[in-house]
Amino acid sequence: MTLQIITPYSVQLGVVGAGTMGRGIALSALLNAMTVILYDISPAMLQSAHEYLRAHLERKGRLHTLANLTLTAQLEHLHGANVVIEAVPEDLELKQNLFARLDQICPPSTILATNTSTLSVTAIAAAAQTPQRVIGMHFFNPAPVMPLVEVIPAAQTADETVQAVLALAERLGKTPIVARDTPGFIVNRVARPFYGEALRLLGEGVASVEEIDRLVRLGAGFRMGPFQLMDLIGIDVNFSATQSMYEQTFGEPRYRPHPIQTRLIQQGHLGQKTGQGFYRYDLPTPADPPPPPILGGKGTIYLTPGSWAPSLATLCQKAGYQVVHHLPPDAVEISVAIAQAGTQEGLRQQLREMEHLLPTHIPIMCPCAEVTLAEALTWVSHKERLAGYDGLFFATGQMVTLVASSFLTPRTQEILGKFVRSLGRLPLWIEDSPALILPRLMCALANEAVFALQERVATADQIDLAMQLGANYPHGPLTWAKSLGYEKVVRVLDHLHAELGEERYRVAPLLRRWARLEQANL
Ligand code: NAD
Repeated sequence: MTLQIITPYSVQLGVVGAGTMGRGIALSALLNAMTVILYDISPAMLQSAHEYLRAHLERKGRLHTLANLTLTAQLEHLHGANVVIEAVPEDLELKQNLFARLDQICPPSTILATNTSTLSVTAIAAAAQTPQRVIGMHFFNPAPVMPLVEVIPAAQTADETVQAVLALAERLGKTPIVARDTPGFIVNRVARPFYGEALRLLGEGVASVEEIDRLVRLGAGFRMGPFQLMDLIGIDVNFSATQSMYEQTFGEPRYRPHPIQTRLIQQGHLGQKTGQGFYRYDLPTPADPPPPPILGGKGTIYLTPGSWAPSLATLCQKAGYQVVHHLPPDAVEISVAIAQAGTQEGLRQQLREMEHLLPTHIPIMCPCAEVTLAEALTWVSHKERLAGYDGLFFATGQMVTLVASSFLTPRTQEILGKFVRSLGRLPLWIEDSPALILPRLMCALANEAVFALQERVATADQIDLAMQLGANYPHGPLTWAKSLGYEKVVRVLDHLHAELGEERYRVAPLLRRWARLEQANL
């Protein structure tokens, strides 16, 4: 097999499907001096794709390249293309039929690529007589903007097909990353818990759509919250990706779809494209509130020693508080006491000590990523002054999660809310829930990334880069897990597993091994 790609000017790109992705890929190719033949069965889609391409090329001052575009409703017209990229709906049978026909129409030197998000490239390649030229080329939406292309060789794909497609992706101005042909490849797989856990948090009544999205943006630095993103992708599209992965893995619990999505689909609320999904798009979207000003708090914060002590102390000191790590016998007046310990036993001891040494009116904050507030309450007598907090994201986020129990007095809740605001953080009060919101989401993401790494879907660097380039994550989940400490991630997941009793929270064996090695190296 000899491939024909020599220079970008010689590339004749065939695109099958003129929908969201097909027209975006066509635009990228036209902007990179390629000739494009765009095919669709629907003349109306061809017409609207033409309008889209004209408008975008005009805006970029490149209208003259429209001369390099041919629109067709006849598949046979693709016979002269060097590469054909298929972007028809996510349906295996439909794609297999198309590849069988393309295989007949195009000479053996033509590369046949599929933009499937989750289907098996190997199964699609199997429909062709010459499967060695079939490969996955997975673009991200919007295709002209997003820099990532996942390149997925099928089991049958020839190495020269891989090399040619890597070169083509670069000529399209993209960063290609090779991924193994496994359900969801890298990005759609590793991102599954971002949606799945958010839907479960909503279903369990832990927080509202708006609260979860805002916390993910302001507390963890993501550009978009999970519900915003599902609305953008299309709830039906997001649901079928999850369902396809669930089916292909014969029921892996981490990919189990959630009924909240099916209910929205039944109502026709598919997200931005129908004007309503988790949000309504006929109403103005309220902007995130700015973080409160750092007020210059007065008083002394008692902070138990521990790994977060330096960052928490700096945060309090910046806001003007004095920080003490030991309680002197004639204790200075403490405003708020913050517990933080590496182990449950350590935390229990700290809370007991505080209870013994601190007057009963002083509020105590207990980290609740690995222990529920309900459990911590069983360790103390003065339950009315104990609140939970998310220690994992307290120092870094603009918004922090606080946990109230039914024992908590309104006065203590007010003092703690004011304290958090005085640090320049917005408080989000929730009821008790295992691993709260961000630790649950982020540790599940990290776990999925380690599973993918262990299954050799890609290297650690590639997985992290793919999540940043393909899903706009602020950092790679593996780097995040390393900086937090693998042991911590494992403890959060074990806590979720114990509390919720679901196999979806089982720890990736490699992650547990890393956590043990981390401990052995300490
Ligand atoms: P879409 O529904 O917007 O477009 C699909 C197009 O295919 C339509 O124009 C339709 O008329 C056409 N079509 C249907 N049957 C056809 C046939 N037999 N022959 C030719 N054309 C046919 O879909 P999309 O969102 O562009 O998705 C296309 C593919 O790209 C899917 O496999 C999807 O999983 C994948 N993908 C989608 C996104 C996304 O965010 N939308 C991102 C990455 C990958």
